[in-house]
Amino acid sequence: MFRSFAGRSRSTSPALTFLRSKSTSIHVSPTPQAAPAMANSESTKREIADDRQVPAMGMDASTFTAAAQSCIDEIANYYTTLPSRPVLPSIQPGYLRSLLPTQAPQDPESWPSIQADIERTIMPGMTHWQSPNFMAFFPASSTYPGILGEMWSAALTAPAFNWLCSPAVTELETIVMDWLARMLALPEGFLSQGEGGGVIQGSASEAVLTAMVAARERWLRRAIEKEGITDEEEKEDRICELRGKLVALGSQQSHSSTQKAANIAGTRFRSIATSREDGFALTGRSLRAKIEELKSKGLEPYYLTVTLGTTNTCAVDQFEAITEVKKDYPDLWIHVDAAYAGAALVCEEYQHYSAQFASFESFNMNMHKWLLTNFDASCLFVQHRRDLTDALSITPAYLRNQFSDSGLVTDYRDWQIPLGRRFRALKIWFVIRTWGVSGLQAHVRRHIKLGEMFADLVRGRSDLFNILTGPSFALTVLTVNPRRRKMVEPGVADGEDPRPYQDSHVAVTPQEADSKELDEANAATKEVYELVDKRREVFFTSSVIGGAYAIRVVSANPLAEERHLRRAFEILVETAEDVLSRREKQ
Ligand SMILES: *Cc1c(COP(=O)(O)O)cnc(C)c1O
Repeated sequence: MFRSFAGRSRSTSPALTFLRSKSTSIHVSPTPQAAPAMANSESTKREIADDRQVPAMGMDASTFTAAAQSCIDEIANYYTTLPSRPVLPSIQPGYLRSLLPTQAPQDPESWPSIQADIERTIMPGMTHWQSPNFMAFFPASSTYPGILGEMWSAALTAPAFNWLCSPAVTELETIVMDWLARMLALPEGFLSQGEGGGVIQGSASEAVLTAMVAARERWLRRAIEKEGITDEEEKEDRICELRGKLVALGSQQSHSSTQKAANIAGTRFRSIATSREDGFALTGRSLRAKIEELKSKGLEPYYLTVTLGTTNTCAVDQFEAITEVKKDYPDLWIHVDAAYAGAALVCEEYQHYSAQFASFESFNMNMHKWLLTNFDASCLFVQHRRDLTDALSITPAYLRNQFSDSGLVTDYRDWQIPLGRRFRALKIWFVIRTWGVSGLQAHVRRHIKLGEMFADLVRGRSDLFNILTGPSFALTVLTVNPRRRKMVEPGVADGEDPRPYQDSHVAVTPQEADSKELDEANAATKEVYELVDKRREVFFTSSVIGGAYAIRVVSANPLAEERHLRRAFEILVETAEDVLSRREKQ
């Protein structure tokens, strides 16, 4: 291979001619000393016998075609039969050990025997996230165009850390991130045409950590500049001192990834309380109070996660009030975590939120949650890409090249924690083109409607259930009444109680955190949740929110239909009635 390439006249290669015709060109040549050294060696005269039993690529092209065809047939069959498979597995921990050998096979195995083990050993241990009966956590969508994108990404495996490592990987990413920024109506500053831009990360947690490290470095750089320190050693010492004072902030409802990122970034983390009255949103008032409290102790808040769609309840933080606070603390980096609910920003009716991000430094949303793209595709946008590259760029000699040095190309390795990266832009490209913006909007709006329909069902049984929050971005959070209540018409005040429906039926507020009624409601809700879970027909998530044990129901995966939500509600009603009858007899 090597010799035949070197022997070929380079001027006849059309690709290279094309590249050389540009002002800057890719220069490909063998290491100068390598060729003569090899020519003199004995080993170049004898061909090395190929005694491998397995072909270089594992199978030859025709075997691959047949294997891939049968694999794809099985995948299509999996999706067709998915609605009838139990959403949760019925196995015990460690089940797989008894099904697989303790040692790796010594000899090669054939593809059919490998593939057969998917159904036999893997399927029994799967929780089916794509099942329409999966209503837990947040969805993690999978779609056929997304799968095809993953196939092409695998086929073109190229850990393209530099532009030069595969220009298409970088350039497609920049283009689809700009498409996405426009689709989500992010402020202009987040586009690559200015000083900002987007980068695809593996997960929201990674995006939060990346933003936090950039925030930490920006804060320290500004502090050192203010102090006017120029001596390198003195600078380093002072940075270490200052680092010990830094505090990352999130609300009580922000995702645990903020605290984890602070652990990794080596700074303090403080959370800011939220309350039921504020809908579990972070308020400007409590942010200001926390900053002042920390500063009075000599600590320095440098980073804050605000959330569009918190994990527990899909709460939306008070972005406008928080923007006002930021005016007094311009060095505070504000990151918007919109991992799940950010998908809704494709619809005009949600884009007033995007406009509120204008003075925030960074934003992330996961295409792989609600926007039809297979895991992983977490999109991080910043208004100043220099903040990322200043914090994350390290360039050893072997990574230097004239393109990167010219500053005309993007090297995404400087925008992320790892060096190598997958070709994830392909699946995003395929998904956006397959649905079009209008298709993505229809997809989100349909789930919003399904969520509203589900919440209506819950309100219709106010004798059994309370809605704690929602529906918000298709998520409804409910609790079970410890005793049956008098039914009220949804939206109409109870005749004996002047308060509107929502207020008259919520037993659980933080003030009542140790009340008997709350304890009873928590016990009843927990019992219902655990019984539903045992049936394995539907999968919800439970959580404790403001002292209340609650059940989260979100149905936003591609295969979800109205009948699945209605059936899920039936199961909730049956179970709650059983539990309450038993309790009433006690
Ligand atoms: C799901 C979620 C995360 C974590 O997402 P990963 O991509 O799994 O790291 C973070 N924040 C919010 C608001 C989420 O909903």
